[in-house]
Amino acid sequence: MNESVEDVGPDEAFALLGNETRVAILRALADTRDGPLSFSALRERVGMRDSGQFNYHLGKLTGVFIDKVEDGYRLRYAGSHVVGAIHAGAYEHAASVGPFTLPDPCPACGGALEFAYENERASVICAACERTSLDGAVPPGVFDGYDRDEYPLVFDRWLRSKARGAVDGFCLSCEGRTTPEVLLDVDARGTDDRMARFGCKRCDEAVYMTIPEALLFDPAVIAFHHDHGVSPTAEPTWRLQWLKDTAVETVSTDPLRLRATGHVEDGTLTVTVDDSLSITDEHRA
Ligand SMILES: [Zn+2]
Ligand SMILES: [Zn+2]
Repeated sequence: MNESVEDVGPDEAFALLGNETRVAILRALADTRDGPLSFSALRERVGMRDSGQFNYHLGKLTGVFIDKVEDGYRLRYAGSHVVGAIHAGAYEHAASVGPFTLPDPCPACGGALEFAYENERASVICAACERTSLDGAVPPGVFDGYDRDEYPLVFDRWLRSKARGAVDGFCLSCEGRTTPEVLLDVDARGTDDRMARFGCKRCDEAVYMTIPEALLFDPAVIAFHHDHGVSPTAEPTWRLQWLKDTAVETVSTDPLRLRATGHVEDGTLTVTVDDSLSITDEHRA
């Protein structure tokens, strides 16, 4: 039976990777498009002469990061994630960028929005009122292949995709199950006293959003936007009226019901949600 990362434990799994040849093996397998690699083909790509040594390293990885199958070796899920993490963290051009000004104004005050990236953390903040539109840790590889002036939009899209994953039930850290809940009386960003939390049951990672942010993934809210000619997935966070002026009120606490009223162009949408952020009532005006 194969051992998995969870069988050997995280300490041992990481210790297995503390060797150049083993990392080279994972990278060689990740670079292969045409199925498993045989022992000799893999050894050739890694460039190691000593087949006994090579076999030793291969054995260490097998069952944890790679699988031995009928016609050779291939990456396991954990192995492809290791290589993915190496790529994600390896884009030196994005080491530090900005701050530079975005073409769009601050949604709150109309001042200049600035993008900055430093120490693997990006932000979009208003230089005038200091309101934060976006802020978060992001691996530099995300920006690979884009021009500098595209970085704010890329960052926004990347954060949105992570939020979407958490809303859909997947932890962005360990892929474990997330569950939605509503937090009352928090003043997380000074914008609202109610927040949505999507916490992982397995690893304690949690993604926090405002209620309007969380609702942006709901079909009713997406349809409302589409009917007014706005694609909420194509528009960046700082341009969405829904995120700027949707008002949230607590209708009842037992059972918990929140009511959110937002606008797009001349349309108004009011939705009522329960404690797991499911819409229980919807009204357009
Ligand atoms: Zn501002
Ligand atoms: Zn998790």
